[in-house]
Amino acid sequence: MPELPEVETVRRGLQPVMEGARFAKVEARRHDLRWPLPKDFVARLEGKTIAGLGRRAKYLLADLSSGDVLLMHLGMSGSFRVFAGGSETKQGKYHHERAQHLAHDHVIFHMGNGAVVTFNDPRRFGSMKIVPRAKLDQEPLLRALGPEPLGNEFDAAMLARACQGKKTSLKAALSDQRIVAGLGNIYVCEALHRALLSPKRRASTIANRSGAPNERAERLVDAIKAVLKDAIEAGGSSLRDHRRTDGEIGLFQHNFRVYDREGQPCVTPGCSGTVKRIVQGGRSTFFCPVCQK
Ligand SMILES: [Zn+2]
Repeated sequence: MPELPEVETVRRGLQPVMEGARFAKVEARRHDLRWPLPKDFVARLEGKTIAGLGRRAKYLLADLSSGDVLLMHLGMSGSFRVFAGGSETKQGKYHHERAQHLAHDHVIFHMGNGAVVTFNDPRRFGSMKIVPRAKLDQEPLLRALGPEPLGNEFDAAMLARACQGKKTSLKAALSDQRIVAGLGNIYVCEALHRALLSPKRRASTIANRSGAPNERAERLVDAIKAVLKDAIEAGGSSLRDHRRTDGEIGLFQHNFRVYDREGQPCVTPGCSGTVKRIVQGGRSTFFCPVCQK
């Protein structure tokens, strides 16, 4: 499932072809993704210009000239492909390679600048919704979200306040979108490893009794920001590579330190531990039981 860095990478990949461009034609090949598309989906998009393409947590927000906002979520398996001024040859090759996946091309945006942006989603957990900008504050999908982890609002004091008195694990607290938005299994594991904090540790132990942050909270916030920045940077390099190839964006390989590394040596300098996998809240947690306290 894409997490914040993947969605941010997708945003950066779509921005050059969508921002400032007009939806010349919109094809909705299905009427439902995770939820039904609005009945007037095509009519509310066609002819409108995208003033800006933003992101909130794992949602992409296209701000339209009409005063509407198009909300897009990749779900489990959603992806976008971009065609911008590709030659005939490239287009043919591309269609040949991707032919088996075309059945999952559910929404196609033909932009006024000639770019074609295709949303493909085999499992259809992705979603698209149109909300008037004036009502965005009340939008249920966004309203309950906690702060953006890379924003200034998210700091040790804020995180400690949110974890004060919480008996749940740090892993569970950081996975809670109301506490901090956009983190999932992978980056929670990675951030906890960088902060040398055990995923099993009680969330409340990053705050003192009055709710003020301790040194663990500081370390954790620094680790979260660093791990996301690194991943977004890796995504940026993958975008530069992908622009030279088939236009698919948002998929890239990271060098994870613990995620999916069960049984392998811990990479913390001086640590002789081995990465362990446990199950928390039905999801795999990867961590080093030696250096993560
Ligand atoms: Zn270790």
